[in-house]
Amino acid sequence: DTIGANLDRAVAAWPDREALVDVPSGRRWTYAHFSADVDALAYALVASGVAKGDRVGIWAVNCAEWVLVQYATARIGAIMVNINPAYRTHEVEYVLQQAGVSFLFASLRHKTSDYRAMIEQVRGNCPRLRETVYIGDPSWDALVARGTPVPYEDLSCDDPINIQYTSGTTGFPKGATLSHHNILNNGYFVGELLGYGEQDRICVPVPFYHCFGMVMGNLAATSHGACVVIPAPSFDPKATLEAVQQERCTSLYGVPTMFIAELNLPDFDAYDLSSLRTGIMAGSPCPVEVMKRVIAEMHMTEVSICYGMTETSPVSTQTRRDDDLAHRTGTVGRVLPHIEVKIVDPATGVTQPRGKAGELCTRGYSVMLGYWEEPEKTAEAVDAGRWMHTGDLATMREDGYVEIVGRIKDMIIRGGENIYPREIEEFLYGHPKIADVQVVGVPHERYGEEVLACVIPRDSAEPPTLEELRAFCEGRLAHYKIPSTLRILDAFPMTVSGKVRKVELRERYAR
Ligand code: ATP
Ligand code: MG
Repeated sequence: DTIGANLDRAVAAWPDREALVDVPSGRRWTYAHFSADVDALAYALVASGVAKGDRVGIWAVNCAEWVLVQYATARIGAIMVNINPAYRTHEVEYVLQQAGVSFLFASLRHKTSDYRAMIEQVRGNCPRLRETVYIGDPSWDALVARGTPVPYEDLSCDDPINIQYTSGTTGFPKGATLSHHNILNNGYFVGELLGYGEQDRICVPVPFYHCFGMVMGNLAATSHGACVVIPAPSFDPKATLEAVQQERCTSLYGVPTMFIAELNLPDFDAYDLSSLRTGIMAGSPCPVEVMKRVIAEMHMTEVSICYGMTETSPVSTQTRRDDDLAHRTGTVGRVLPHIEVKIVDPATGVTQPRGKAGELCTRGYSVMLGYWEEPEKTAEAVDAGRWMHTGDLATMREDGYVEIVGRIKDMIIRGGENIYPREIEEFLYGHPKIADVQVVGVPHERYGEEVLACVIPRDSAEPPTLEELRAFCEGRLAHYKIPSTLRILDAFPMTVSGKVRKVELRERYAR
């Protein structure tokens, strides 16, 4: 199916069910109303000369218009280009040029970002950019007023409709090009495994610009008649829990750091989260301790962990509702239907036996069409057999459950020993003075690299000392894994998708 046909099906089945709620502005859409607004915007784009295959950029924080743009571009087969709302002039100019964006939607401003001023600065260098429309501005209304109903062009579900940039956790983001088929199927299956139906209301505090929000949120919702609830333009732990309470959400999404921030709110106990049933934690390693607290303290008894990447639409493995606690907190679940996973020796490419670590590779409908206009990078990532090489180290257990060991790029090599930061982080989460922790390797004269722990303390007045940490690890972790340096931080450097930029921590403390 195409995304447009899928929306038609949703409108036929659930015309009066709520599809979208924008909490900050108090606006609400039923499926019928939402689809009518999508059509109006799609007709307006056609009237403005936007055709199938044209690139339409969206540079905006979370708001209802983002979702309307997502479906309107898919309706007419235009290729939506998601632009990171944290970008500044240099980066946005790169994306507008690289993707050849001809029509741009943008936020006017958010916090200290004046998007209009930044676009004015770069537009001279982007000759293909014909028109910019601002959300919440008269230019939006003027655009919508332009449209008149026209029949939609025939589309194929294998057409590219979306360029999604990766998070940029390990370097410069790459533009994964995706089809209707890629992302719609993925959203459908993720929602299916969560048991979504028309009664579900999904609170989405993760950015729409990233696949977590736009696929696992929006597309999973419309394929099952569920409703998307937008708590705030950008992540805010209080606004998120308020939205869950006010809108009686049944599902809540987040990367681990978001759940940690919510659980650590001083007035956490004051929120009524009893409507929650499920949700997704994903995007980076999900600490067992945090999963257990989410299940016990947030009523999310059926919560899933998903593992995936932008290039694979994104989800490849997911824990199931009926998995036992050990599987649901300690693994990233089993492979999704119609997707294959194998674990290979990164040096030789030979498939590893179960239980042995190696690079996770995945194949199936979910693998991207390629990186936009970067055939060399595509060839490095997707091999001739269409296997996507993820750059993640993992093991497949005897029972088919996958465990992520870490990113190949984050592995620390100290005096010839391979160290996986993940293992040390999991261990340190058990320390009573630690709220959040990241472990990275920093250069060391004698050992090549040494282990640095960056800690956000639970109580900033009384952070743990290095001696305390070492004493905590002594006898329970091998000596070479015990952190030799400690940094106390208030916050980690983050990507907009909520991931810790370990590269930045490494650079900052490389001395
Ligand atoms: P870039 O590719 O630009 O460096 P990125 O890889 O973080 O950034 P994404 O596509 O957003 O960009 O993230 C995919 C990566 O996130 C995976 O390759 C994996 O390392 C990590 N990841 C996702 N889900 C999980 C999970 N459940 N557990 C552990 N790691 C995860
Ligand atoms: Mg990546």
